[in-house]
Amino acid sequence: MDLVKKKKLRIAIVGGGIGGLALAVTLKKLGVEDKITLDVYEAAAKLSQVGAGVTMWPRAWEIMKNLGMEEQLIAKLPPGQEKPAMSEQRFYLSMRKSNQREGVPIVDVVGPGGAASYHRADIQSILLDQASPTLQYHLSHRLTKYRESKDGLILEFSNGSTAVCDLLVGADGINSAVRKTLLAEGKHWTEEEIDLHARPIWTGIHCYRCLVDADLVRRESPESRCLNKLTLVSIPPNLTIGVTKSDWDGSFAVKIGYHLVVYPISQGQQINVAALVLNPEKKGTYLDGPVVQQSKREDIIRHYQGWEEDVEVLLKHIPDPSRWSIQYIKPLDSYISQSGRALLLGDAAHATTPDFASGAGLAIESAYFLGHIISKVLEKNLAPYASATTITKVYDEIRRPFCNAAAAASRTLGTMSNFTVPGSEQYIDGVEMPADKLSELGALIQGGWDWVSTSAMPDLERALGMI
Ligand SMILES: Cc1cc2nc3c(=O)[nH]c(=O)nc-3n(C[C@H](O)[C@H](O)[C@H](O)COP(=O)(O)OP(=O)(O)OC[C@H]3O[C@@H](n4cnc5c(N)ncnc54)[C@H](O)[C@@H]3O)c2cc1C
Repeated sequence: MDLVKKKKLRIAIVGGGIGGLALAVTLKKLGVEDKITLDVYEAAAKLSQVGAGVTMWPRAWEIMKNLGMEEQLIAKLPPGQEKPAMSEQRFYLSMRKSNQREGVPIVDVVGPGGAASYHRADIQSILLDQASPTLQYHLSHRLTKYRESKDGLILEFSNGSTAVCDLLVGADGINSAVRKTLLAEGKHWTEEEIDLHARPIWTGIHCYRCLVDADLVRRESPESRCLNKLTLVSIPPNLTIGVTKSDWDGSFAVKIGYHLVVYPISQGQQINVAALVLNPEKKGTYLDGPVVQQSKREDIIRHYQGWEEDVEVLLKHIPDPSRWSIQYIKPLDSYISQSGRALLLGDAAHATTPDFASGAGLAIESAYFLGHIISKVLEKNLAPYASATTITKVYDEIRRPFCNAAAAASRTLGTMSNFTVPGSEQYIDGVEMPADKLSELGALIQGGWDWVSTSAMPDLERALGMI
């Protein structure tokens, strides 16, 4: 009996966010529970999510559907939003230039499938419902680091406890302790040096997030765009700080910009608002202080004075928002540890700006891939160490190029949304952008969205073919 137990692959997921839970659900659906032990270690005292809206695109929808969660997702859709249908061209989002009394449409991005918007808590509770009731959740377990041993990886937690596993999945978000340990492997770095390499970089953007009671807006402005579709409104920069090369990939011109992303969630009862404000002098610095802070409604309102009516009405009803500092991590050369027993998933591997609203979708995708890779490798009945190294190698080879590219594309889209894309340098200090230039930008933006409606399944087939 004991021998059989020892042969099970001991999997530890660090982080019970969307990525970690999606992996737990995938493994349950694939019916591998008799071949593994699965433990989820979560720093928080309870599984709850801060945050507000999460939009899901066809790629992620297909996976949630394959995992048997489509019905639950449909039930939580805002009125008027249909489930994505890949065979149809549907509305994704509307981009407008709104810093004037009469707003100007830039582009209505359309593509196969369509968008589905949710409160983050809804997605998490759907995943939690589907995860195995026998799954071991260890709350209040904040990983500090892991280390190698003959028996597997030893996990160390800030509460003084330890655990051991054959395969460690670091799904512990943007400030990942797994990434920190992994990057320092084989190096003789001081704590400061480790911090410098692993620490997220601040974009200089503050994102003010809040939920507005949709009825308040509906009563005053029944036709408001904010009530029924994803709308992204932007202005050209009103101040130039010069065009600088980005510090790590050399591809971005940087100037100031604002934009506002608005969409209905919670079956239409609430409007999700994300107001982004770039502080150019802070771009590329390290954040000093908490990522999320409480803020005042005036902090949003003062930036959006004189904008078109839909914005004006919306802002009248906003409550005090929380202020998120938008960070990203440098692209990683590898998502796996030197021994091949640990890997990174979701934001821990490729946290980026929220411009494609796809970080959660990518985490779900990686979890789905990883679950399938684990399941196929387990069929080979290899020893735990050989299983773990085969799993991580295939995962890294398939997921890293795709996720790193999506993360970089998201940052590029951010420059377009703020009108700070190279080639727009002359549109500064109130200089109006001509209509043909706006349409050019619109076409660029439309093209950038193509990937969100592609299917991840061919890549999954490729991954499984490598085993
Ligand atoms: C403003 C904004 C808007 C966004 N909008 C969208 C959107 O519309 N659509 C979309 O797909 N994505 C969106 N995202 C991105 C999305 O939120 C993230 O990409 C996604 O949450 C990543 O999931 P994850 O599971 O990798 O990490 P997380 O959700 O961050 O989960 C990590 C978990 O690990 C736990 N943890 C952290 N450290 C430790 C530790 N040391 N030990 C143990 N546990 C630990 C945390 O408590 C948490 O539960 C947005 C992000 C922002 C900032």
